[in-house]
Amino acid sequence: MHAGRREGRLTAQLANPLCLRSEWLNGGVSDGGWPEDWNERMAGQDCPMCRALGKGDNAFWVHVMTGDMAEVFLERRSRLPGYCVVAWRHAHIAEPAELDPDQACQYWHEVLAVGRAVQARFHPVKMNYMTLGNTVPHLHTHIVPRYPNDPAPGGPLVWQDIFTPDPLPDSDLRHQAAELRDLLSRAT
Ligand SMILES: [Zn+2]
Repeated sequence: MHAGRREGRLTAQLANPLCLRSEWLNGGVSDGGWPEDWNERMAGQDCPMCRALGKGDNAFWVHVMTGDMAEVFLERRSRLPGYCVVAWRHAHIAEPAELDPDQACQYWHEVLAVGRAVQARFHPVKMNYMTLGNTVPHLHTHIVPRYPNDPAPGGPLVWQDIFTPDPLPDSDLRHQAAELRDLLSRAT
């Protein structure tokens, strides 16, 4: 690994989270293969998700709720209304297989509860659950509602097609987050 290059990238991330976001929106795909610092990312070094957890709203997500195992966020820039991210909120792990059986049961229970709330509020034609972590390898699951007129009816979404350049109005997002929070509170 080229330490100077890695340090430069991390410095840029810390100074401007959009740097990472740009990479994230691109699905982290590059011609050069996996990032040079992949092992460090897997181990949680400078993990942007660890930094974001427990701090409420950020530039990309509106906080919905904090569960026993995970935090739930509503994506600000999605062409798929109700698209949420559920992020494991305890010590950094990269793979769901690292969870013990009780943690795994509770984590997926919370993931599915969010999926039900999104279904009840937004009425998609299908739900997709994506546990990827190919750019930010901190355990999280994308709760992706699919719609009749979405970018890839009947097939998998292209990552970049999920997002829009501009966020929804903050007031709309906060209203949607409150509705999801209410549905989740009544479900448990
Ligand atoms: Zn992390």
